[in-house]
Amino acid sequence: MKIKQSEFVISAVGPSQYPEDGIPEVALAGRSNVGKSSLINKMLLRRNLARTSQQPGKTQTLNYYKINGELYFVDFPGYGYAKVSKSEREAWGKMIERYLRGRDPLKLVLQLVDLRHPPSAEDQRMYQWLSHYEIPMTVVATKADKVSRSQWPKHMKIIRQTLGMPGHVPLILFSSETGQGRDELWSMIMQSAEI
Ligand code: GDP
Repeated sequence: MKIKQSEFVISAVGPSQYPEDGIPEVALAGRSNVGKSSLINKMLLRRNLARTSQQPGKTQTLNYYKINGELYFVDFPGYGYAKVSKSEREAWGKMIERYLRGRDPLKLVLQLVDLRHPPSAEDQRMYQWLSHYEIPMTVVATKADKVSRSQWPKHMKIIRQTLGMPGHVPLILFSSETGQGRDELWSMIMQSAEI
């Protein structure tokens, strides 16, 4: 995918603010600090479009990025902050659920996990929850540059087993440092979004 234009569009707090132009959407989920902002920046070849290291718990919005006028990235707020209150967590869940349930332009969900560590209980819950909506999913293992190449198969196997991923769900290794996985991920996105 040749990036001709990318722009931040809106931090949407609810459905009334979601774009209505029908352009395909790819959603990104993952715990905070997994490398979601870095991945968005790397995919779009922008240094600082997606804010890196967002403020804990403050981002109860869906952040829309428009690419070449033909695709949206929809950045979910990171999960997994210990300090987030029960009511904030519930508001988060409601917002995401509402989005996943009724969002026609949504073509693909990317769930990010850290290649270095087995997926957490929250990652597992998130994966189960996302699977439930029967939207095509791809798991992206981030920070691949931090694991030696010889260890990749072992770590990938642990991710597949811990999440209970069936063979047909793709698992892509990614590094925002080296750009590894970028082309593969773009192919997956373009195929799913039919662009
Ligand atoms: P977010 O909270 O999920 O948006 O995570 P960030 O993109 O802010 O990344 C969290 C931290 O991990 C930052 O210090 C990044 O520089 C670092 N990081 C993110 N992706 C990578 C990667 O692929 N390789 C390495 N080595 N560090 C990364």
